[in-house]
Amino acid sequence: MVIVFSFLSCEKENTNIQTIPYTHVYTKVSTITHSILGHGGAGTAYIDKDSFGRKIGYRGHGIFVTKIDNDTFYAFDATCTNHNTDYDHTLTFNNELGLKCPDCEIIYNPISGEATNSKNNTPPLQPYRCYNTGNGSIIIQNIRN
Ligand SMILES: [Zn+2]
Repeated sequence: MVIVFSFLSCEKENTNIQTIPYTHVYTKVSTITHSILGHGGAGTAYIDKDSFGRKIGYRGHGIFVTKIDNDTFYAFDATCTNHNTDYDHTLTFNNELGLKCPDCEIIYNPISGEATNSKNNTPPLQPYRCYNTGNGSIIIQNIRN
C-alpha cells in the first residue's frame, strides 16, 4: 500500500514529457549511502552512478533526486535543456536555490523541473519516475519504458 501510494504521488506531478533524447534509466539507490533521501531526511541529492559504478542519466550526466517526505520524490536528469543535447551541459547545485547550468546560468526548480529565470521558454528538465521501496532504497526509472 505504501509503495502504491508513493508511486501515484510521483506520477501526479511528472507528466510523460521527453525534453532530451531518451535514455534507459532503472536505478536502485541506497538511502543509507544517500542519507538525505532516507528516513527523516529531506532535500536534494545528486546521484551520478548506480550501485555497480555505472554512470546514469543522459550521457552519464547524473540525476538529481529531491525528497519531500517518505512518499514524495522528484527526479530529474542533470542535463540542461537550454542547449543542443549533443554536447555536455550538466547542472550543479546553486546553493539552496535550485539547480544551475554553469554554461548558460539557467536555474531550475528541483521539485517542478521548470526553468525559473529563462527568457526563451526553456523546456523543463527531463523527469523520471521515483518511489520508495520501503527497504532502505528508492527506485529511479523512466516514466515511459
Ligand atoms: Zn545551460
